[in-house]
Amino acid sequence: MTERIRIDAGRCTGHGRCYTVAPDLLTDDEEGFVEQRGTEFDVPAGMAAQAADAADACPEMAISLVRPV
Ligand code: SF4
Repeated sequence: MTERIRIDAGRCTGHGRCYTVAPDLLTDDEEGFVEQRGTEFDVPAGMAAQAADAADACPEMAISLVRPV
């Protein structure tokens, strides 16, 4: 099953750590927030490590990983 990543728009305060440690997965918008805030999407193949690093790096705990059962 494909792992999914979820970014809570309400928690994201734009620290920028997530897209710094996961540049191939996440990007910044013009205000410094993660562009993908408020979305949930499949983690592409080979990106699981970056997804985990992004979740670990976020001080607001805005990023969660969802593993379908
Ligand atoms: S590290 Fe967390 S608070 Fe900072 S931009 Fe990423 S999701 Fe938002």
